[in-house]
Amino acid sequence: MNIAIDGPAGAGKSTIAKLVAKELGFIYVDTGAMYRAIALYFINNKVDIADMEQVETALSAIKIEIKYRDGKQQVILNDENVTGRLREEAVGNMASKSSAISVVREKLLSLQRDLAVANNVVMDGRDIGTNILPSAELKIYLTASSAVRAKRRYDELVAAGKSADLSQIEADIITRDEQDMSRKTAPLKQAEDAVYLDSSAMDIDTVTGTIIGYARERI
Ligand code: C5P
Repeated sequence: MNIAIDGPAGAGKSTIAKLVAKELGFIYVDTGAMYRAIALYFINNKVDIADMEQVETALSAIKIEIKYRDGKQQVILNDENVTGRLREEAVGNMASKSSAISVVREKLLSLQRDLAVANNVVMDGRDIGTNILPSAELKIYLTASSAVRAKRRYDELVAAGKSADLSQIEADIITRDEQDMSRKTAPLKQAEDAVYLDSSAMDIDTVTGTIIGYARERI
């Protein structure tokens, strides 16, 4: 069984997807981390993403593998485990730009589909229900207002002892939403058969419980 969870940045997809996967005994596949690994390579190697030749050369030098350690997804970029370096804002901002390039998306398509064929998965991303796993048994479109999403991210950074600017975070979130929703290849949108969940006024347990309820109806 496959569960697809799509939605904008900061909607809580990964937190919820991990809990749902744990409860159902499925594996959690974080596709954003795969786009982030490519973005990290582009940043480290100063790839100009406006230059398709540079992008194609870089992609042919990139090997991405997914492994699981204690049930947690690890992203291996050219034999190096880069999982710990993927969450930085700069990497996310680059990922949002580079993920709009169709050859970047093609590079990750079979990796994502193969994981879903071989395992019961909860996979989160932007185009999982619409493009990667169109026949997933359950599709969720998880969203929240940009103000709520920015505040959650702000609280996370502050709790980690980092400085943060709430209005800047909200502005970045809005820019990323626009990029993800307006790109030509596999834009972020709700699949027709997806359940729409706005988590602005819902806590984590309620959202998780709701999705598990839908999943159990389909098992
Ligand atoms: O979800 P996360 O913030 O880690 O994703 C980083 C970026 O990767 C997103 O802003 C989005 O542009 C891109 N992405 C995508 N398709 C996916 C997952 C992520 O385009 N399935």
